[in-house]
Amino acid sequence: MVHLRMKTNDEFQDYQARIDSICGCTEVSQPCMAMLKECRRELCVNFPVKMDDGSVKIFTGYRVQHNDTRGPFKGGIRFHPDVNLNEVKTLAALMTLKAAVVNIPYGGAKGAVVCDPKTLSIHELERMTRRYASEISNLIGPERDIPAPDVGTNPQIMAWIMDTFSMNKGYSVLGVVTGKPIDVGGSLGRFEATGRGCMICTLMAAKRLNIAVPGATVAVQGFGNVGGNLARMLAEKGCRVIAVSDVMGGVYNADGLDILSLRQHTEETGSVIDFKDGESITNAELLATKCDILAPAALENTIREDNADTVKAKLIIEGANGPITPEADQILNAKGIFIVPDILANSGGVVVSYFEWVQGLQSFFWTESQVNRQLELVMSNAFKEVMALSVDHQVTMREAAYILAVKRLDSALGLRGIYP
Ligand code: NAD
Repeated sequence: MVHLRMKTNDEFQDYQARIDSICGCTEVSQPCMAMLKECRRELCVNFPVKMDDGSVKIFTGYRVQHNDTRGPFKGGIRFHPDVNLNEVKTLAALMTLKAAVVNIPYGGAKGAVVCDPKTLSIHELERMTRRYASEISNLIGPERDIPAPDVGTNPQIMAWIMDTFSMNKGYSVLGVVTGKPIDVGGSLGRFEATGRGCMICTLMAAKRLNIAVPGATVAVQGFGNVGGNLARMLAEKGCRVIAVSDVMGGVYNADGLDILSLRQHTEETGSVIDFKDGESITNAELLATKCDILAPAALENTIREDNADTVKAKLIIEGANGPITPEADQILNAKGIFIVPDILANSGGVVVSYFEWVQGLQSFFWTESQVNRQLELVMSNAFKEVMALSVDHQVTMREAAYILAVKRLDSALGLRGIYP
């Protein structure tokens, strides 16, 4: 039996403790274990941006490359006021594992700028993004490290990064970022891909748990790219999405929320709160909602030791990265709740990013149904592999996903060897 829980106050140390636990109970080489526990490169940049009022503000940004044993570094860029180096390192490491779980030829990376994009004008956001792209341009590139959107970033921001990189090269480099708008080399299906991947995992896990999907009750925390698309797709499958929240608060309707109207309301007002066909609830109440399926799809560490016991769902789909702390994980496992871990559940985004990169390199673009079909194939294979390993080794889905990823990385490292 693997024990993933190690209590520290540092999320990267928590990650390292997880790797120790996994490697301690499966046959993993010492070099692989040592390499997975550290990040290969950590870049911190402090750079000036001209603000609209004529002043100059210094922004701090990061790009962390964790491991590229299985292919180029790959990982999103987050714009958030509270982001810090340790968080970026942890997210970079999760990307290495995620790419290995779904068996796509990438390593792991992550980037961030400490800022609140909502407080910047569109011109300030563009200048800040372009300068950040320029600051990290020595590290990124289609063969080296390929960024993508994450919290606080979007296709427009990816287009600016692609353009900045291309201007400095002297020609258009489509493969330098993924999650681009369709008109500049984006892939059909990329915008919804993470939500779609979560939906595929939800259907497979529900079948395993004998939860009848038409009629299953669902609560989703976070109504952005991941949570918004997942809520819509599960509603289309006949689920009753009874609770949804965002950073401002949540809404509840026991008969099921009309997700399309809720989306329109959010577009008009900036939040799900004050939706006319639902009662107000807090984020804490959303997590404690009695439902079949709970999808934390906002930020990390939302289910912790102090609130894990309130969770009543039968199935948790980790739409966000790291939404459950190691201590909460133990509590939820003890309650018998089935958890589809982040490195499997939300990997649909990186899978379709991989398809976008392949399409860009070949300048040959696929139809949306080709993208969705291939995504379904990759996700369902990965789910089945993790499930089989979990049954064989009598471990949780999280432990099984880590074991699968670490074994694949160990095998690749064994074949490549350590240079020189
Ligand atoms: P997003 O910015 O589009 O949406 C985030 C949502 O979470 C928003 O509705 C926001 O209001 C809400 N939120 C933020 N803080 C909150 C809080 N404290 N309490 C409740 N709600 C809060 O971001 P996203 O792209 O949907 O990403 C969400 C999560 O999914 C992140 O953990 C991200 O790393 C992960 N993820 C995203 C992708 C992707 O393709 N976008 C892929 C894999 C993983």
